[in-house]
Amino acid sequence: MLEFTSLEEALKHFFGYDTFRPGQKNIIQEALNNRDLLVIMPTGGGKSLCFQLPALLKSGLTIVVSPLIALMQDQVDALRDNGIGATFLNSTLSWDEVRSRQAAILQGKIKLLYVAPERLLADNFAAFLQQIATQVGISTIAIDEAHCVSEWGHDFRPEYRQLRLLRDRYPQVPVLALTATATKRVQQDIIQQLRLRQPNTHLASFNRININYEVQSKEKRNYIQLLKNIRQQSGSGIVYCLSRRSVEEISLRLQKDNIKALPYHAGMTNETRSINQTRFLRDDVQVMVATIAFGMGINKPDVRFVFHYDLPQSLESFYQESGRAGRDGEAAKSILFFSIGDLKKIDFLIEQKSDATEQRIARQQLHQVVDYAEGTDCRRTILLRYFGERYSGNCGKCDNCLNPKPVEDWTIEAQKFLSCVARCRERFGMMHTIDVLRGSRKKKIEQYGHHLLSTYGIGKDKTLEEWKMLGRSLLHQGLVAETNDGYRILKLNKKSWEILRKQRSVEIAVNSNLKTKSVGEYNPRQAEAEMLFEQLRKLRKRIADAQSVPPYVIFADSSLRSMAQKRPQNLTDFSFISGVGVHKLKQYGEQFVSEIRAFCEIHKLPVPLPSSSQMITFQFYQQGLTPKQIAQERGLAIGTIYHHLSELIEMNQPVDINTLVDKNKQQFILKTIDKVGADSLKILKENLGEDYSYEEIRLVRAWWKSKQN
Ligand code: ADP
Ligand code: ZN
Repeated sequence: MLEFTSLEEALKHFFGYDTFRPGQKNIIQEALNNRDLLVIMPTGGGKSLCFQLPALLKSGLTIVVSPLIALMQDQVDALRDNGIGATFLNSTLSWDEVRSRQAAILQGKIKLLYVAPERLLADNFAAFLQQIATQVGISTIAIDEAHCVSEWGHDFRPEYRQLRLLRDRYPQVPVLALTATATKRVQQDIIQQLRLRQPNTHLASFNRININYEVQSKEKRNYIQLLKNIRQQSGSGIVYCLSRRSVEEISLRLQKDNIKALPYHAGMTNETRSINQTRFLRDDVQVMVATIAFGMGINKPDVRFVFHYDLPQSLESFYQESGRAGRDGEAAKSILFFSIGDLKKIDFLIEQKSDATEQRIARQQLHQVVDYAEGTDCRRTILLRYFGERYSGNCGKCDNCLNPKPVEDWTIEAQKFLSCVARCRERFGMMHTIDVLRGSRKKKIEQYGHHLLSTYGIGKDKTLEEWKMLGRSLLHQGLVAETNDGYRILKLNKKSWEILRKQRSVEIAVNSNLKTKSVGEYNPRQAEAEMLFEQLRKLRKRIADAQSVPPYVIFADSSLRSMAQKRPQNLTDFSFISGVGVHKLKQYGEQFVSEIRAFCEIHKLPVPLPSSSQMITFQFYQQGLTPKQIAQERGLAIGTIYHHLSELIEMNQPVDINTLVDKNKQQFILKTIDKVGADSLKILKENLGEDYSYEEIRLVRAWWKSKQN
């Protein structure tokens, strides 16, 4: 058994990573203490590591229950490529193969065994399990995609229900349940159904910091619009469409336009679907055009974009589908194409439903999607609020934050709106409230006597769209609530009353086409890194093809990116790259280092190398932590972190100044540098005054310097 002085050391040794993702370390420590655990993390959060690392550190075998054969195969491939003893047993294997795998397990050569639930519970498997328990020991039972146990989830699998028998049979073995599900109901179900014993629940934030959200209104020539957007992306992507027909049509047109694309939908044969999926996983094609049938089995970590060419059914499905982008934590893009025409199409489909309740709920879900699409607030705030999570806004990575709409004070309008909700006795939805405000003549208004209310007609000065914009923003900011029963009835909350009592003002982002320009745009170093990155991707693809595995099994995009930036010239430097563990260093080090050296020679490049401490700060930064959080995480002064970030910027590492310093402030600091020069921070500070901190000035100065050579 290997000994490690810290969990970080073990992480680097087996997986090549330097730092844990948020939450991982805690979970792993508790797993090592044999606790039952429920781990809820969004897709890409890094759930697998939470049972894989403990499996390697504990004695005995960890059994991983996984619902899909493709998922098993994938994880096992990735583990073996790190030199880890992992295997799976499922129905695709020949009898001989099963026998030899079982032998390896009983000889203790395997640390992780992946099985489907139905096999685990089969009678003839019980004896083998008992043999494992006595000869090598079962260290943990990890249940992946644990939401499959719940009828309330979206992937219910009855055989998951039986898993509780394992708990009865091996009561002393800790159970670790993992899922990306967002709803409370399902989480509760998991605990009960699997009989978890006083589990520690780890609920990570659902914020996917690396995904950049955007909504585009669908143009007339919307295929051309789609094509243009795809051409702007590099790397793999998924385009979701509503119908099989449009999947077929779009993928054909893309092929004609020289985009490597394939279709995927439930109407195709199993065989074709599986071929298309494999070609996508292996980067033989760039784009998968699919219906939502292309779902849970898609474990590809380096999907760089997910486009919704048609409206998704609900915000939850939008979140899960767009969440298939960027599991590896690298930047990824979500675009939702939205048109009122599509809305009408779906509304028509909903009308065909026979059950009134179903109809109502479907309509509410649709309207929540529309609220997201037409919202003027930070998209991330809107999404997270849907999952009951509060987010302060200004993410800097959605279209509404990047091209902020001007903010205006709409306190008076909000008071009118909310008092109208109060006068209608909190029994109506947004449309009715607006009708009253605008003095509509609709029958319904007179029926309820609402034409007699004091708020009737006091909002004629604003259009329907403006009132909707206000209503949405109030909802998104949590300044008014609405029921979740399909009727969407507006309800006043504490904050609404504060507004009505004039204790709170209301600001909303107002839709107009104003665009602001950001400062940090072109960067020549970045272009070189991009070229090298592409070259390394090609090398990775050659190696992967030779082994018939997907490229991401060899190295993640983030590792290639880090290589392209740091340009390691020898094996020692190469070993410091995140994702390079002992095994991969031996296996691929030479090939990658010589590729990088050749590139540097041809392009006559110097080799700027940040210190390892700077790099750790950089990695946390890339995970989306703020300077303050990085300082806490590392136990360093915040000033030190700002120093690191400035130095990284000056070395042209991709630290985005816009995430650290307000744009207006950047402009003004740059102007001041123009005036008084960049030599003395003190002089700059004197000229800029109280409102500007040394940190901000140093950061912008570093950015300015990086553009000077
Ligand atoms: P999930 O199952 O939560 O969707 P995965 O376990 O598949 O996520 O992990 C997503 C990606 O993140 C994988 O490519 C994995 O190798 C990578 N990853 C996990 N933990 C770390 C870490 N600590 N540092 C860097 N990459 C990580
Ligand atoms: Zn935002």
